[in-house]
Amino acid sequence: MKLYCPVQPIQHYKIDTTYCDVYYQKLFHTYHSGYDWNGKGGGDTDYGDNIYCVYDGVVSDVAIGQGKWGLIVRIWHPGLNIFSRSAHLMEHPSNALVKEGQQVKRGQLIAHMGNAYGAWVSHLHQDFQIPGEGQTFDYWREGLDNAALSDVHKRYVDPRTLGVKFGWE
Ligand SMILES: [Zn+2]
Repeated sequence: MKLYCPVQPIQHYKIDTTYCDVYYQKLFHTYHSGYDWNGKGGGDTDYGDNIYCVYDGVVSDVAIGQGKWGLIVRIWHPGLNIFSRSAHLMEHPSNALVKEGQQVKRGQLIAHMGNAYGAWVSHLHQDFQIPGEGQTFDYWREGLDNAALSDVHKRYVDPRTLGVKFGWE
């Protein structure tokens, strides 16, 4: 089964930051753990856009992360043995469209794009966490040294690798 692109239609969006993106490293002095999806309209034109579940799973966390995370929805995918994490989501009266413990389907609407209370230009940060010790819903590793890089490699799958394995649509 292919992964469902979290933003639709896919041709209206672009990936502005990739996994371990070099430009991001220069700007923020840390490694990027996944993809940043942005609307091609630029700025906050994508604010409030629909965010979809990439694969069948169970919602493990719906919570506000520390720092500049804003609202995060983390989903456990038994079929992939991986968590998907969608972040900087729009704060919603019910906090998100899904609840912890809820079964969710690939392609299901789960949240809306946001900007973490103005911390960023509106975009979706999405990464894929490998289960393991200390793998919290809002984990983030600062730093540009070898330890930080190996930490990112240990904790996150490159979304491109997943795409090659399963395909996106
Ligand atoms: Zn990001």
